[in-house]
Amino acid sequence: MLTRFAPSPTGLLHLGHAFAAVYAYDLAEENGGRFYLRFEDIDATRVRDEFYLAIEHDLSWLGIQWDGSPIRQSDRLPAYMQALEQLKSLGVVYPCFCTRREIENEIAGMSNAPHGPEGILYPGTCRALAASEREDRLAAGESHCWRLDASLAARQTGSLIFDDQINGKMVVDAHLLGDVVLARKDIATSYHLAVVIDDAYQKITHVTRGEDLLASTHIHRILQNLLGLGAPLYLHHRLILDQNGKRLSKRNDALSIRTLRQEGLSPAEVIDMLS
Ligand code: GLU
Repeated sequence: MLTRFAPSPTGLLHLGHAFAAVYAYDLAEENGGRFYLRFEDIDATRVRDEFYLAIEHDLSWLGIQWDGSPIRQSDRLPAYMQALEQLKSLGVVYPCFCTRREIENEIAGMSNAPHGPEGILYPGTCRALAASEREDRLAAGESHCWRLDASLAARQTGSLIFDDQINGKMVVDAHLLGDVVLARKDIATSYHLAVVIDDAYQKITHVTRGEDLLASTHIHRILQNLLGLGAPLYLHHRLILDQNGKRLSKRNDALSIRTLRQEGLSPAEVIDMLS
């Protein structure tokens, strides 16, 4: 059994992260498996150097020890780019030249904008571009991201399922998140693409993470299928919420592991809070 914890070094760990880390760590420990640490640090505009060490420090303080050296997604960009090329050759991605403003305007003019669990979906504007226009705009160096053509992808994969140890067998809905971005304008990859490549690279057998990412797993199964990668088992656990029922964010400083430590709590007391 191989599990992982994949924080972004964009802030301090809070109780919600600690819960996810303990969950993955305990699962591996109880089953004689391995537990890996992976930094999801592709977004250089948000990553800060000090947080890599702070996260390692907090995890160690909690008694969580990872196997081997942590990997950093920022070191693995060529692997993601290669996967994107593979998807291009399958014809299931397309370049999208829309600016945020253009997307907003397009949606404002629609009487029935498509919705997903995370809000309004991309309306598909650039999916309809003629191949010649696409080529001209790419050749002219126009700024673009790459999106999954969800309909085409679904046709190629046929029906898929994934096993969620908490929610049971899930039937993949390729349209749940619409034509998601697989390579951002600025960083040539995205969370969805990178996480799929890395879970396969690290041979993760059990992907444990918060239930807020359940919808993303539908896209991940599609990418795994298109790229010829196996599917891990999934466990989407509940999230720790604040007093207002909102999920914790990096702004909940009061509940950061560092603050709790500075207030004099012991690791055992913090673990206790989690359970
Ligand atoms: N980086 C994500 C987070 O901090 C975790 C993603 C995942 O586990 O797949 O929520």
